[in-house]
Amino acid sequence: MVQQGRKIWFDGRLIPWEEATVHVMTHTLHYGDGIFEGIRCYHCSDGSSAVFRLQEHVERLFNSAKILQIEIPFTSEEVSSAILETLKANNLREGYVRPLAFTGEGGKGVSPGNAPVHLMIAVWPWGAYLGDEGLTKGIRVKTSSYARHHVNVMMTKSKICGNYVNSVLAKREALEDGYDEALLLDTDGYVAEATGENLFMVRNSVLTTPPGDSILLGITRDALITLARDMGYEVREERITRDAVYTADEAFFTGTAAEVTPIRELDRRTIGQGEAGPVTKLLQQEFFRVVLGDNLKYAGWLEHFDL
Ligand SMILES: *Cc1c(COP(=O)(O)O)cnc(C)c1O
Repeated sequence: MVQQGRKIWFDGRLIPWEEATVHVMTHTLHYGDGIFEGIRCYHCSDGSSAVFRLQEHVERLFNSAKILQIEIPFTSEEVSSAILETLKANNLREGYVRPLAFTGEGGKGVSPGNAPVHLMIAVWPWGAYLGDEGLTKGIRVKTSSYARHHVNVMMTKSKICGNYVNSVLAKREALEDGYDEALLLDTDGYVAEATGENLFMVRNSVLTTPPGDSILLGITRDALITLARDMGYEVREERITRDAVYTADEAFFTGTAAEVTPIRELDRRTIGQGEAGPVTKLLQQEFFRVVLGDNLKYAGWLEHFDL
């Protein structure tokens, strides 16, 4: 259970966390036709706080809505300032931000009819998503029995609520089988991504990550590609098979929640030395330097605010 915040921004107003409730006939509750974002805010070394790549996340929120064909009743500027306002109202220096747009009461069948679109923003403190030990030592992963969505079954470029039933099933299976996370293959059998993270592997200091066809294009993935290239690494966006990951020197997941999490095992094959590899560690270090405001080259990725 996450530690709860104090206030939730709901349709333009900050209200107490306990009062941010909806009716059971909320359309999205039945059919999953909502969209969301996952954003992190960091307590920087200079004492200020900063939201990581706020603009890109808000832009993706609106693109997700466009794909689902729902209209968020606010402008992107309003959503960006609402996010900062919510963080301040909760006095949250560091944590997670969850904007969610959903269809309310309207059609009872699959068509939402004239259901209004609501927008809420919740924030809460959240440490390492896959555990502190996972972040330093790496996690154990299992290839899922579930495939990632086919591109014409679900719209994979959108964080649509209903898409995540696939992730929930895969995550549950992995946890019940004693693993930390699931790796999902695409419908052609190539590595796609995890339940909420993108994958990278390293071989001979070259990074490879699956291309953006059936995956959710992570903003952390994009940040890591940029950082790695700026550090002089070659990064390829290419199809990967699971056995290529078995024999990689290193592998890691990226995501707003998971940040940069090393993978130490896939399907009972130890990856590299079975710990966070040297390239992964360097990139992880650089990532944290950037989000904490210690690398001014990427200052444009941080939206600073003071509490
Ligand atoms: C959100 C998400 C990611 C990671 O995206 P970020 O923008 O880095 O947080 C990767 N895969 C899936 C399925 C996701 O939902």
